[in-house]
Amino acid sequence: MPGFEVFGAEEKREIMDVLDTGVLFRYEFGDQRNGIFKVREFEEKFAAYCGSKHGQAVTSGTAALKVAMIALGIGPGDEVITQGFTFVATWEAIFDVGAVPVFTEVDETLNMDPVDLEKKITAKTKLIIPVHMLGAPARMQEIMAVADKHGIPVLEDTAQAPGAKLNGKALGSFGVCGTFSFDSVKTITTGEGGMIITDDENLWRKMSEYHDHGHDHAVNPGGRGGEGRSFIGFNYRMMEIQGAMGLAQLAKLDGIVASQQKNKAAIKEAVARIPGVTFRTILDEQGDSASFLGFFLPDAGAAAKVNTILAENGAGAIPFGSNTWHFYPKWEHLIAGSTLAQSGWPFNDAKGKRRVVYDADVLPQSAALMDRLLVYQVPVNLPEERLRQITEALNKAVNY
Ligand SMILES: *Cc1c(COP(=O)(O)O)cnc(C)c1O
Repeated sequence: MPGFEVFGAEEKREIMDVLDTGVLFRYEFGDQRNGIFKVREFEEKFAAYCGSKHGQAVTSGTAALKVAMIALGIGPGDEVITQGFTFVATWEAIFDVGAVPVFTEVDETLNMDPVDLEKKITAKTKLIIPVHMLGAPARMQEIMAVADKHGIPVLEDTAQAPGAKLNGKALGSFGVCGTFSFDSVKTITTGEGGMIITDDENLWRKMSEYHDHGHDHAVNPGGRGGEGRSFIGFNYRMMEIQGAMGLAQLAKLDGIVASQQKNKAAIKEAVARIPGVTFRTILDEQGDSASFLGFFLPDAGAAAKVNTILAENGAGAIPFGSNTWHFYPKWEHLIAGSTLAQSGWPFNDAKGKRRVVYDADVLPQSAALMDRLLVYQVPVNLPEERLRQITEALNKAVNY
């Protein structure tokens, strides 16, 4: 998964372009910057890579979600549907714009269950956020059909799946917009950073101005500071050094995916020998970014037993069902409504009255899957001896 594995000379060279000019900022400094606009170039190349018209770089994947939702007009009184297996960032951003997150079940894709999605739609639903977890697609065809039927826009949280495709089309390019993260553990990294892609020029202009304090981004002969603005904004600007890193990492993305596919296949072959094992549904094997390998044991007890053997032999897998950062029932601060705000916002309304309650037990279908799920993160670089260690551990788990 992580781009940090392939961080090297190319990143340094791109960054030196920036340091040589001394212009660390994406806007202004026209005379000094020598025509170097790394963030802008990264936006253009990333969007083109995904087959989208526009890219908007921001400071993180969480900021990308927030900026996109603001530009879509989401706010207090709205409900936003996402899935119960995702990183906390997805619903943090929903709360941060004042809306209320509603969670769906996941199915064997480990992503949004379109049948449950339709059940969760209400008159307040203003946005649907499927998440392409662990490098592979949600059922976009079915999700788009439900969304279109109800006239609700779709934002794809593609933080974990740059470079992945579904039937030849880049993930993140199915809905009205798609968001990405370039944090320390993502497929490509800029240290911290995020991106939104969209074909909608009007939406992109709103995102561009909002993330830059509302500065009017129409051509302005008077220079920066003299322009007007149409709405209040915030600051989520990416730095030139991050843009430079992004360019070098983007150039490596196809190679990263190819290595991961090869390494995933090798690990999968060994996993397949475990009796009773089944694999996560991957809707498009060719388009899989192969950042992770997910597999199910027949029940929770078997999964625990197998993982104990794997861990004892130096190749423990991630039991995402008990991971406190990614699965709904484990988000105790969400369930408890813990917040720093004295009013209790966002769980309480401005008058201190509870406006939303989360019950740990409302996603039984997801729990039944997550309890018996084990996941390997697939490295970009997998030395022979490490593969041998994993294979030997898996061979020992055959008689669990
Ligand atoms: C990493 C991640 C984010 C947030 O990205 P940051 O850049 O860390 O803010 C959002 N959604 C998902 C699914 C993620 O994995």
